[in-house]
Amino acid sequence: MTTLVLGAGVIGVTSAYYLARAGHKVVVIDRQPGPALETSFANGGQISASHTEPWASPSNVPNIIKWLGRDDAPLKFRLKADPALWSWCIRFIANCTKGRADINTERMLRLALYSRDLLADLRHDTGIEYDQLSTGILHIYRDKKALAAARERMILMNDLGLDRTLLDVESCQALEPALKTAAQNGLISGGIFTPGDESGDAHTFTTALAGMAEKMGVQFRYNCRINDLVVKDGRVKAAQTNQGDFDATSCVVALGSYSPLLLKPLGISLPVYPAKGYSVTLDVGDSPDAPFVSLIQDELKLVYSRLGGRLRIAGTAEIAGYDTQVDDQRARQILKAALTLFPDSPRTESGEFWAGLRPKTPDSVPIIGKTTIENLHLNTGHGTLGWTMACGSAKVLADLVSGNEPEISLDGLGINRFGK
Ligand SMILES: Cc1cc2nc3c(=O)[nH]c(=O)nc-3n(C[C@H](O)[C@H](O)[C@H](O)COP(=O)(O)OP(=O)(O)OC[C@H]3O[C@@H](n4cnc5c(N)ncnc54)[C@H](O)[C@@H]3O)c2cc1C
Repeated sequence: MTTLVLGAGVIGVTSAYYLARAGHKVVVIDRQPGPALETSFANGGQISASHTEPWASPSNVPNIIKWLGRDDAPLKFRLKADPALWSWCIRFIANCTKGRADINTERMLRLALYSRDLLADLRHDTGIEYDQLSTGILHIYRDKKALAAARERMILMNDLGLDRTLLDVESCQALEPALKTAAQNGLISGGIFTPGDESGDAHTFTTALAGMAEKMGVQFRYNCRINDLVVKDGRVKAAQTNQGDFDATSCVVALGSYSPLLLKPLGISLPVYPAKGYSVTLDVGDSPDAPFVSLIQDELKLVYSRLGGRLRIAGTAEIAGYDTQVDDQRARQILKAALTLFPDSPRTESGEFWAGLRPKTPDSVPIIGKTTIENLHLNTGHGTLGWTMACGSAKVLADLVSGNEPEISLDGLGINRFGK
């Protein structure tokens, strides 16, 4: 009676942990030599229920048009002859109405709030450490019009159960003194603060949780490439890998951006496409000139998290296929923006540049739950917010595999919303 979890990113490892807690025998398979070495490695570090704004929204349409062809655009489409990309784009456009954006916000927020609570419980139960800070997240704005538009979204989110407050420049500065110079330089007109949001290192967390899962009996098979799933009589029988076949009683696909590639031969077309993003990590020690409160510079789509003695800055998105090469110029744009906002921060030359592929659905809502193959489950497509939604998605998944009723509604979270 083995549940195979395919993928040892933050989603696969949290799935394995909650499945083990529910009493399942679990085997996790990943091609990397350890957990969280792909997209979950150096992300923005935010647990941000306040960031549950779908990319597909009427307010983003003029931005995307304005950014077309610009090398420094926060969101860049490199259109090419890839049917998966075109069908993803058509669905993305269909989600760009206010009605759809509101529905998608509610779905993301439902899961993010549930997940945030579960992460706090997990911390309490296990004592897990991952450079976490529970000091909230502050969204900052330079342009007053952008702040006014953000206020509208704040009202919607507050109506849906999030606790967010509008702050003037002085209050932003009081909350995060490292913003003083930026405020003096006219880079901030105000902000929105979400006290319940958090930050922390997703790679450290996933590695520590994998260690705890292992002690609970979960087996991890690393350096193990999954080539195919063997399906007989409408059920997954085994995963075929370069280390042989692994038998499955049930199977969870948590392969991030690569999930659709494994499922396509089974006739399951998963609308998940990679959205490449970058991060820069700086050694800042205990400097008070770099921020401690996690920040989102909304107009530039950049996030900042203090991870112990490091400052992680992450953002930008390129819809351009499966390329994970670090484009130095693109990473340096992030560094430049950070040093403009925090000119007094330590300027180490040792900034670490990284790129990863967000597994993005066209509506920004992940895909969790059953498929047409009875014992095959999905936990993928978390896009910008996989770290934020990991614990909630994993608990829902473990409940489904165990035959229990999940604690939140699954309305709009399954693959059936795409007519599959
Ligand atoms: C720049 C950037 C900033 C981000 N910032 C944040 C943030 O601040 N907060 C937040 O919540 N989220 C953030 N995210 C998103 C978050 O990192 C992702 O949603 C999350 O890491 C996805 O996790 P995953 O486990 O689904 O995918 P992954 O971490 O990619 O895991 C998938 C695993 O599957 C394995 N795999 C794939 N194919 C195969 C195969 N054939 N055989 C064997 N193994 C295979 C891979 O090795 C990998 O380990 C950010 C992402 C990026 C790129």
